[in-house]
Amino acid sequence: MEINRVNTRIIPFRFEYHSPSSLGEALTILSRYGSEARILAGGTDLLVDMKQRLIEPRHLVDIKRIPELKLLGGDAGGFMIGSAVRLRELERSEAIKGRLPLLHEAISSMGSVQVRNMATLGGNLCRASPSADAAVALLALEAEALIAGPTGTKKVPLEGFFLGPRATLLRPDEILTGVYVPYPPEGAGSAFIKLGRTSLDLAIVNIAVVLKLRGGIVEHCRIAMGAVAPKPLRLRNIESFLSGRGLTPEALEEALGMVEASIKPITDIRATADYRREVSKVLLRDAIKTAVERCGGLGS
Ligand SMILES: Cc1cc2nc3c(=O)[nH]c(=O)nc-3n(C[C@H](O)[C@H](O)[C@H](O)COP(=O)(O)OP(=O)(O)OC[C@H]3O[C@@H](n4cnc5c(N)ncnc54)[C@H](O)[C@@H]3O)c2cc1C
Repeated sequence: MEINRVNTRIIPFRFEYHSPSSLGEALTILSRYGSEARILAGGTDLLVDMKQRLIEPRHLVDIKRIPELKLLGGDAGGFMIGSAVRLRELERSEAIKGRLPLLHEAISSMGSVQVRNMATLGGNLCRASPSADAAVALLALEAEALIAGPTGTKKVPLEGFFLGPRATLLRPDEILTGVYVPYPPEGAGSAFIKLGRTSLDLAIVNIAVVLKLRGGIVEHCRIAMGAVAPKPLRLRNIESFLSGRGLTPEALEEALGMVEASIKPITDIRATADYRREVSKVLLRDAIKTAVERCGGLGS
């Protein structure tokens, strides 16, 4: 029978639902079923794919009852955020807003309140969409991904976590347990900007910048962009170019001139590659300007 891709209310195949209450139990289930199993967090990406029969997992492993994955807390150096923490909880956290305003800004831009009430931070990272808003912010914040598998746990820089569209370095028997997000340097300013067709849509291009000046010279610069390459990207060449320089109009122009060579956008239903190339420069200029204002202006 022809699958109706328009009627997305129906999940047109059978699957077994598992709801483990501990990390160990979840890992055992994943080891048993391998690539036949999929982790279910908020389901805002997964269920859409299942309804459209893009994937047909035989086992769903719901991780929302696992306490370790719902931890949210800061220490002296940064924040530990469990992978199953919902976006709305992060958005409403005064601690996140105060210490990681870039993440707060990115998450507030995602979907609708209804989506954020269901969706988790880990789901956004594991789906590995090139435009994932939280991923772009977390790259600029130099977050680390915490992974648990049958042989133990490991920590990897988030930059190495993404392999391409919908592909991460997670194996089918591994779980992203959370991220550790270091605080940006004292006195840094940041900005997240997302250009989308509507407020509910995924980004045409998004950008996150963290910047700190000392005596007018760039002391710390991190730039990440989304929807301009197969995976969310750090623009390290521009970071290095700006570091140690004054943000003169000439330096800024030169930095903007480096954007095209740093990205590999495609044409899709949201925008053409040419448009993405052009708008990336505009967003970089705007994000740097806002980050500078937020860290006290060019003279700081
Ligand atoms: C209407 C709508 C609007 C949206 N708007 C935006 C937006 O503005 N910006 C944006 O970036 N996204 C947006 N999204 C996409 C989606 O909401 C986010 O990516 C969300 O964060 C996914 O989280 P989730 O918990 O729902 O993931 P799920 O759908 O549960 O899972 C997504 C994928 O990650 C895997 N997974 C989940 N958790 C883990 C884990 N801990 N370990 C290993 N694998 C795991 C799942 O198996 C699945 O493959 C939107 C979606 C909808 C439906």
